[in-house]
Formats: sequence, structure tokens, C-alpha cells
Amino acid sequence: DKLTIQTSTNAYDVLVGGGLRHQFLDYLDQSYDDVLVITDSNVESLYLQDVLTTLSSVKRVNYTVVPAGEASKNGRVYFDLLTEAINMGLDRHGLIIALGGGMIGDLAGFVAATFMRGVDYLQMPTTILAHDSSVGGKVAINHPEGKNLIGSFYPPKAVIYDVETLHTIPQTEIRSGYAEIAKHSMIHSPSFWTDINQVSLEKPLNETWLIRDLIRGIEVKAKIVEQDEREANVRQFLNFGHTLGHALEAELGYGVYTHGEAVAIGMLFAMELSQQYFGNRLPVDAFLQWLKTNHYPIQVANLSITALMNRMKRDKKAKQQRIQMVLLKELGMPVVEEIDDVTIKDALQLFLRKLV
Ligand code: NAD
Ligand code: ZN
Repeated sequence: DKLTIQTSTNAYDVLVGGGLRHQFLDYLDQSYDDVLVITDSNVESLYLQDVLTTLSSVKRVNYTVVPAGEASKNGRVYFDLLTEAINMGLDRHGLIIALGGGMIGDLAGFVAATFMRGVDYLQMPTTILAHDSSVGGKVAINHPEGKNLIGSFYPPKAVIYDVETLHTIPQTEIRSGYAEIAKHSMIHSPSFWTDINQVSLEKPLNETWLIRDLIRGIEVKAKIVEQDEREANVRQFLNFGHTLGHALEAELGYGVYTHGEAVAIGMLFAMELSQQYFGNRLPVDAFLQWLKTNHYPIQVANLSITALMNRMKRDKKAKQQRIQMVLLKELGMPVVEEIDDVTIKDALQLFLRKLV
């Protein structure tokens, strides 16, 4: 399957299929003499060799492995990668391949964006969550003061999504990625959500459904970023569930819940608040049931409401400390609303009690 994404500067293809790591060179619209593959220590042992074999016709291929985990998305690792690129003699006509999940995509993508003011790169996502992160052109590293604070908008030359690599991702990462698919469904349409609601996340995943859901998730994201590449308006809808989600991740400690697991709770809250705000009916109970059936962790009742609120006020969307949230007028109709502190506080109190 192939989708094409239009950006202000170029168009790129997103290819989704089984076994693409063995044949992706055929899909590039130019050839390269110099390639640097960047991957992490988990993905290395699983898929690096296959990718290197596929690259065997390329004149010069180098690779570099960073430790798995979000901690590698930092300034030092970033700078070391630049040093490696310089030492191997990579020039402006070379290619960087980001082989891994969203961490590698963001990190290697930022290296590509900044090395010699930008070299070509490929996203080769290997997690479900990376259906989200590999599309849209946002690349970044973290700063000790906050996640993704240093970054750029820099679209890849192509996204090569080999769904066979998803067989090996751990259960928590399946939950994390499917939460973002659920997000794409809810901001898009009732029918997309109805399909997700039927999906069981127990291994082995239903491959046909997985591919269907990844492609639809990518389509939703693509449509939004094509309209608003730099997040001036509709791209904010992609933050559905993220206002509380990010606050939970930070308050629990990063890595305690995966990103998507935290966002899932955030979506549930945003749905509750939407119902209260618009007086509409959303599938809150069905979503909660789906989360429980699929063993999403939802133990957050003992967190401090004040601490969560303070974090929500520091959200990138907040305006002068006033919390902006993506709500749903109905399924498939997201809107951004400024919500006053008292409303949020009361709603959070009720919500956390409900999750006990
Ligand atoms: P990740 O890249 O850290 O991968 C999660 C874990 O799975 C890691 O331990 C990794 O080594 C392992 N893994 C990856 N592929 C595997 C495979 N095929 N088999 C077995 N294990 C595998 O995390 P992620 O959840 O993919 O991505 C999270 C990152 O994405 C965060 O840094 C987040 O900021 C970023 N992100 C970016 C955007 C964007 O638009 N740029 C959007 C969402 C998230
Ligand atoms: Zn997210």
C-alpha cells in the first residue's frame, strides 16, 4: 500500500507492507552512494542485518547504534551522531536511515535536518506508535527542561513501514501505539472508532486489521498535516488526549506508563469533559471498557490534582497559563476550547475517582 503526502516543500510516499526492509531501495526515486543507518540497541539485533543486506549495492554504508530508550534522544547523543556523520565523510548527497521507533525517528530525523543544513533521510518505523511519529515531519530531541524542546519541521524522503517488524514489539508498546490509532479514529469518524473498538490487542494481532488501522491512522494524520504543516490551527487536533496525557507522563515519571497509555487516559478525560461542556453523548463507557479489556494501566487516582493542573498550564497549547483542550463536539468533530481552571479541577476530581 502506498500513500503520498504533500508538504510545502516536497511530496513523499508512505509505503506500508510486509517485508519492505528487504526491498525498499526499489522505491526510492534516486540512488545514493553514501548511507548512514541509525538504529537502537533493541532493533539492531532484530532488523539491522536485513537492512544492511538490502543496502549491499550501495558504495558506502555505515551504521550506528544508540542505547534503546527515550534517554537517548538527548543533546550529547545527537552531537555524537553528527560527529560520526562527519568522520565517515557523509556529504550533502548522502542518506540517513532512521530504523526504529519514534525515538530513533525523532533523533535521526533531527540529525538529518541539521547536518550540513539538511540531508535526505528515510523513516523506517518499527513500532505501531511510529505510524504517528514518522509522518508529519516533526523531528526533535529533548532538553532536560522538557520533551521535544529542540527540533524542526523536516519531512523525510519516504516512509518505509515494514509491518513484519511489528511482530516483535512488546505488549506495552502495542497498547501505546494503538492508543494513538484510537486517537486518530476519534478525531476522524464514528465508523473508524467502531472498528477500533472491536480490535483485541492480545498477541498475535490480527494482521489484516493492523494494516487497515495503520493506514487509516496515517491517512488521518496526513490529511491534517497537509492542511497545517506547522501547527497554526487544525494540527492541534492531533493533541487530543495529550493535555492530560503529557501531564500524567511527567507526574508519574517518564516511562512508568508508555506515551500512548498516558494519552489513552487523557482521551477518556477529554471525552468526559466534552460531554459536560457540550451536553453530547460520546462512547466514554465503551472506550473505558476497551482500555480495561486490553489491560491498559489506569491507576492514577492518587495523583495530585494541583500538580496535574500546573503541568497542564505549561502545555505548549496553553495561552497565558490558561488551559486549552481538544474536545469532541461529536466523534470526528474535534475543537480547541479554553477551559477555566475551576471546571478542569472539578472534572478531574470526578474523573480520577471514577478510575479507582
Ligand atoms: P521507542 O522508539 O523508544 O520504541 C519503544 C521500544 O520498543 C524501545 O525499547 C525500542 O527499542 C523497542 N522497539 C522498537 N521497535 C521494535 C521492534 N520492532 N521489536 C521490538 N522492539 C522494538 O518509542 P516509540 O513509542 O516508538 O516512540 C516514542 C517517541 O516518539 C517519543 O520520543 C515521542 O516524543 C516521539 N513521537 C514523535 C512524534 C512526532 O510527530 N515526531 C509523534 C509522537 C511521538
Ligand atoms: Zn502522542
